[in-house]
Amino acid sequence: MTPAEDGFGFTPGAVLPDGRGRTGTIRTPHGEIRTPAFVAVGTKATVKAVLPEAVAALGAQAVLANAYHLYLQPGPDVVEEAGGLGAFMNWPGPTVTDSGGFQVMSLGVGFKKVLAMNTAGLADDDVIAAGKNRLAHVDDDGVTFTSHLNGDRHRFTPEVSMRIQHQLGADIMFAFDECTTLMNTRGYQENSLARTQAWAVRCLTEHGRLTAARSDRPYQALFGVVQGAQFEDLRRRAARDLAALEVAGRRFDGYGIGGALEKENLGTIVGWVCEELPFDAPRHLLGISEPDDFFAAVAAGADTFDCVMPSRVARNAAVYTARGRYNVNTAANRRAFSPIEDGCDCYTCAHYTRAYLHHLFKAKEMVAATLCTIHNERFTVRLVDDIRTSIEAGDFEAFREEFLGGYYSPR
Ligand SMILES: [Zn+2]
Repeated sequence: MTPAEDGFGFTPGAVLPDGRGRTGTIRTPHGEIRTPAFVAVGTKATVKAVLPEAVAALGAQAVLANAYHLYLQPGPDVVEEAGGLGAFMNWPGPTVTDSGGFQVMSLGVGFKKVLAMNTAGLADDDVIAAGKNRLAHVDDDGVTFTSHLNGDRHRFTPEVSMRIQHQLGADIMFAFDECTTLMNTRGYQENSLARTQAWAVRCLTEHGRLTAARSDRPYQALFGVVQGAQFEDLRRRAARDLAALEVAGRRFDGYGIGGALEKENLGTIVGWVCEELPFDAPRHLLGISEPDDFFAAVAAGADTFDCVMPSRVARNAAVYTARGRYNVNTAANRRAFSPIEDGCDCYTCAHYTRAYLHHLFKAKEMVAATLCTIHNERFTVRLVDDIRTSIEAGDFEAFREEFLGGYYSPR
C-alpha cells in the first residue's frame, strides 16, 4: 500500500447479536461515510432536480454517478479536466461510480437493476444472449454496444471501464461485471460468472497499473462485484473467489452485491455472500430502496445502498411516509394545508404544504420535482441512518418491527 492509499479504509463498529449486521465507518479521501448508509444517486453527475447543497442538507453522505452515462456524455476526459466528478458537480463529499456494466448490458432489454424486472415477452437466455434486437453483445473479452443517445457503436472491456472510472475520479469504483437476470438458465449463469470473475482479475490488474501511474491523485478504491443470481453455490463461490483474489499484492477494497435478486430471497442471498466476504471490508448492495429490503439486507451484513427510486417516483408526485407511500397529486390534497408528513424534518415539510405541491404538479412547475425529491431522499437517508442508530442502541429488531408495521399497514 502506498501512502496515497491510506486515504481509504473501513472500520466495523457495533454488531448485531448474530454477528452479521453491523455499523461501521468508510474512510475516503473526501470524507467519511458512517454505515449503514444510503448513497444518493446522481446518474449524470447531478441528483436530478436538487442542488448539491440541498443533497448535503438532507443528510446524504455520498453521491453515486454512472460511468456509462458520463462516458457517453460529456466524456470522462471532460470530467477529469474539471478536476474529477466531485469538483465537476460541486459535491465536496465522497463520490462513487457504478461500472456501467449494468447499463451497457440492459440496453434494449428494459429490466431493472435488482428487483421487479420487466422481462415480459422474453425467455431464458434471450434476455442476455446475443439477439438481433439487442443493442449490446457480450463476449468473453467485453461488450459491444450501441449508444442510446445517437446510435454510435462503442466497446467496453474491463480495462476500458477502469480507465473511464479513474478519469471520472470517484472515491469508490466498481469492477466491470456481467449483470444477468433471473430469466437466464443455470448454465448461462455459470458461464457468465466465470466471465465476471475473469473480468475481476483484469479490473484489479488495470486498477493497479492506473493507481501506480497516477500516484499524485487521491486514492480511488475498487469494489469487486458478486454475481451468481439465486444460486447459493454460485453466490458463495463468487464471493469466496473475489475475497481471495490478489493481483500484485492488491485486493479489492470492498465488494458490491449485484444482479437479479428475488425480493423474498434478498436477505438470504445477501447473507450467503456476506458470510464469505471478509468482515473488515465494506459491502454495497446495488439498487434497493424498499424499507423491508433495507432491514433484511442490513441484518444480513450489507453496509451501503443506492437506488434511483426515491427521486424517480418523486418526479411523479409519489411521496414516502412512515405510513407508506401516497400520491400528492390526487384531489384529496388540493386543500391539504399540512406538510407531506407531520413531524418530518426535511426542508420541504418545514416550509410547504401538500396543497402547494398539488398545485405545482398540476401547473407542471419544475420545483414540484425538487421539493418532493428532497422529501423522499431525506426519508430514505433518515431511515437507513435510524437503522444504524438502532444497531448502536441494541434495539434493531424492535425498530424493524415498529417501522415495517407502520409502513406496510393500510393508511
Ligand atoms: Zn419531509
